[in-house]
Amino acid sequence: MTEQDINAGGRVAIVGGGLAGSLLALSLARQGVGVDVYERRPDPRVGLSEGGRSINLGLSKRGIQALTEVGLIDQVMPLSVVMGGRVIHAPDGSTRFQPYGKDRGEVLHSIDRNELNRLLLDHAQRHPQVRLHFNHRLERIDKARRELEFDHDGEKVRAQPAWVVGADGAFSRARQEMQRGERADYHQEYLEWGYKELSLAALPGGGSQIELEALHVWPRVHCFFVSHPNRDGSHTLTLFLPHEGPDSFATTRTPDEVRALFNKYFPDLIPLLPNLVDDWVSHPTGSLITTRTAPWSMDEWIVLVGDACHAVYPFYGQGMNSAFEDCSALMAAFAAHPRDRRAAFIAYEQSRRPHTDTLAELSKANFIELKQKVQSFWFLARKRVDAALNRLLPKTWLPLYTMIAHTTMPYGDALKRSRQQEKILLGAVSALALVVVGAGVWVGRLL
Ligand code: FAD
Repeated sequence: MTEQDINAGGRVAIVGGGLAGSLLALSLARQGVGVDVYERRPDPRVGLSEGGRSINLGLSKRGIQALTEVGLIDQVMPLSVVMGGRVIHAPDGSTRFQPYGKDRGEVLHSIDRNELNRLLLDHAQRHPQVRLHFNHRLERIDKARRELEFDHDGEKVRAQPAWVVGADGAFSRARQEMQRGERADYHQEYLEWGYKELSLAALPGGGSQIELEALHVWPRVHCFFVSHPNRDGSHTLTLFLPHEGPDSFATTRTPDEVRALFNKYFPDLIPLLPNLVDDWVSHPTGSLITTRTAPWSMDEWIVLVGDACHAVYPFYGQGMNSAFEDCSALMAAFAAHPRDRRAAFIAYEQSRRPHTDTLAELSKANFIELKQKVQSFWFLARKRVDAALNRLLPKTWLPLYTMIAHTTMPYGDALKRSRQQEKILLGAVSALALVVVGAGVWVGRLL
């Protein structure tokens, strides 16, 4: 053991016991590292969390890979519902199924965020090296003294860990404190749209009112719904709608306004949501943020993971997946630099940041896809060509969505490859058009 190896100098503090924090605690504990997790909220395993509502996320290949590395995938999978494709709900109530590629194992898994978090915390806590500290909110970091200060039910608690991981989400206090007074970049961008989660109940005797094993989308250009299934047959619906302006969250407050919005855009959902007005009023409206920052670490002492260093809009369903992938990348960097933590932190950031920057752009682009393109003729035709080429050349031709959701290819490499494929396709279509025109001219001359 040297001064900078992951075990040196005492225990590690992870700030934030959410998805990335609890997974990383488990990964480090498996390497014999002593870990203290400080989470500002109460223990989600005790009593009801998030008001008892189910908030679910789409788990895909990158997240599955990270969970496999810590030996948890067999426990996670039974908690999820397989989604074999998207069901698109048109304004006239008709539906169209767009499969992902189930025969090739290309499916998404809908999983309850709280259930997954509880499982990760449970498994982390089984390691004797892990201690969980709930109701501990990071308030300050004294970098000179290498000391963290938490608020614990109104009392100040201090810790001097060997090193620190900031896994405290999009509004990371660890990041703010780490970068205070340093040459650091930080950019945040709010989407002018917000979101609200509603529940579509299961049928009284169990079972689902709509196709269970699919992601459902109601694209309406001005706004859209996405829904993820739960194991009991219910679905969590998320409405994405502008914060301001006509037909926005600002103008949809009274029961009449709520009913008017749904009559205009989602009449087919009204009979399925008998508690619509009550749910609308009692469920909060959320905001969506993209953040970019650099650097992701300071010296050999503190490093960021997950939303703390790259929050993205949720439209590619990759926030949690990429946060989990960060944990794998950080562990790989430790393995590559076993005696130099600072070098590991730098290598980790260099291997990840260009790709999470790409993910931020892709997530913005998918916003347009989900709200309107999934219904467009040209978009669907393009998807069909992509799918057909993929079937014909499964190793050579990979649609962008497939590379992002169903492989662990770095995000930037996936985008580069997709652009190359785009060029080839454009070249082939142009060549075909020339041949058709040429043949037309030739036939014309013969007649
Ligand atoms: P978080 O999960 O936010 O965890 C941070 C933790 O830190 C929290 O427990 C918090 O309480 C704690 N904390 C915060 N501040 C402090 C402090 N000062 N002191 C101590 N603790 C603190 N991702 C997907 O992959 N697939 C999806 O389908 C998907 N859908 C989404 C839908 C919506 C509407 C939204 C908003 C997000 C979605 N995401 C999805 C993104 C995903 O939720 C996040 O990317 C993921 O939760 C990031 O994990 P994290 O551990 O970095 O942060």
